[in-house]
Amino acid sequence: MARFALALITGLALFGVAGLQQPAGTGHAGKAFRFNKVKEGVYHAVGTGALTVVGNSSIIVNDNDVIVVDDHVSPAAAWVLLDELKAITNKPVRTVINTHFHYDHAHGNQVFGPDVEIIGHEFTREMLIGGKSLQMPLYKNYRDGLPAQIENLKKRVAAEPDAARKAALQTQLQAAESNKESQEELKPTPPNVTLQTRMTLHRGDREIQIRFLGRAHTAGDVVVYLPKEKVVITGDMLTSGLSNMSDAFVNEWPGTLDELKKLDFDTVLPGHGDAFTDKAKIDYFQAYLRDVWTEVSRLKQQGVSAEDAAKRADLTKHKDHFPNNIQGPGIPPIAATRIYEVIDTAGRR
Ligand SMILES: [Zn+2]
Repeated sequence: MARFALALITGLALFGVAGLQQPAGTGHAGKAFRFNKVKEGVYHAVGTGALTVVGNSSIIVNDNDVIVVDDHVSPAAAWVLLDELKAITNKPVRTVINTHFHYDHAHGNQVFGPDVEIIGHEFTREMLIGGKSLQMPLYKNYRDGLPAQIENLKKRVAAEPDAARKAALQTQLQAAESNKESQEELKPTPPNVTLQTRMTLHRGDREIQIRFLGRAHTAGDVVVYLPKEKVVITGDMLTSGLSNMSDAFVNEWPGTLDELKKLDFDTVLPGHGDAFTDKAKIDYFQAYLRDVWTEVSRLKQQGVSAEDAAKRADLTKHKDHFPNNIQGPGIPPIAATRIYEVIDTAGRR
């Protein structure tokens, strides 16, 4: 009897999340997520570092169900999110919303069963279907960098004399190894419900608007807007620092942020960094985007290569607003390459 009960419990543990089998790479010590309560039933899930999750997710707990916005970097990260979510609610996750196609926001999609609606922009579906997103430089650079990241951590663990720092590095190493294991099981899974401009979900008296406000960080970013709670979930269209520009329309982005400003909200849940209320951050980011576009365009016009433009573009006047991103002249090479590409293919996607 005891053995039967144990087998049953083990079975439930393995199949307990969304009725699906536990993916590889979920091993970690301690909690992987902090669920920061923002408003009644609204949480911002931020990784602790115990597991590689990369982006943030947001959780909306309704009367009878749960909506997850973005699902992290791997099937393992999404599976652990669902597991740890049980600490705040026992209601089922019935809906996932992808703010955009990037790997750190949508590569957990595969852990959700066929009964779960995954909602995203048509462009997000286009990029996730047939593995197109895997061919983009952003993901390729990330995946190709994982073995070196692990080797580097191994060396640092071996060389570290201080016990506490060694233990912290070991946690990082375990997270990196688990992540690599999970990436090997990755099958990009596209949204099964798509939108072009907007869609509204009604759950009890809660209204959940999904809005495409224009091209920005990608060609298909959506924000999730809760008008009653005055919360907006922005993915990477607006983060607490500078967003990656590898698939961006930097010239259109400030205008899209103007559209965002028209919504009545007091709290932003970004795809990276902590939640914030200071709307001046939007102005700072728009000013940065306008300047980076002008600066890189000017260098291109002078015949400078994208590689050199990345070194020479000087945005240091914005460093007080983005101290974690700007230490001196230069921008990420992938950003310069992308701006050149957008200029060269103006008018086309
Ligand atoms: Zn992104």
